Amino acid sequence: MVDNQLMATLTEQLSQRAGSDPVMAMLLQQMTSPSPGEAGDELADLQLRLDRATRKIERLRAELVAANAMAAYVARVLGACEHCWGLDQFCRSCLGRGQPGSQPPDADALIDWVSPALRRAGLATITEAAARSGPPAQEQGADHATV
Ligand SMILES: [Zn+2]
Repeated sequence: MVDNQLMATLTEQLSQRAGSDPVMAMLLQQMTSPSPGEAGDELADLQLRLDRATRKIERLRAELVAANAMAAYVARVLGACEHCWGLDQFCRSCLGRGQPGSQPPDADALIDWVSPALRRAGLATITEAAARSGPPAQEQGADHATV
């Protein structure tokens, strides 16, 4: 800390004299430019920071790809626009009309995916035909259309 203050004071005084004294200007330049070792340390530090930032960007990019894949899967299962789920009126794919059910959902995947949560909530899935014809049926396979 003292070295830094001393250096700052000395640099300031040399700066004031450097305008009229070439020797002082040269001395000032020597003092303020990093030595080859310092420059190498700085370069190594910058390289280390660049490497860390690059790894972090790669990790974030991989997470983004995974999140996009999951969002696209959910949209496909729900029959929604894979780009906006119908939430963006400026969406180039659906103009905001791609809400869940706007396209045929993947009923089998939907039932497989939501049934455990529905069971846990005390709910069940039945087909439209079962709902029209009588008492609720036990959970069934691929023909589920109503929750
Ligand atoms: Zn859309």
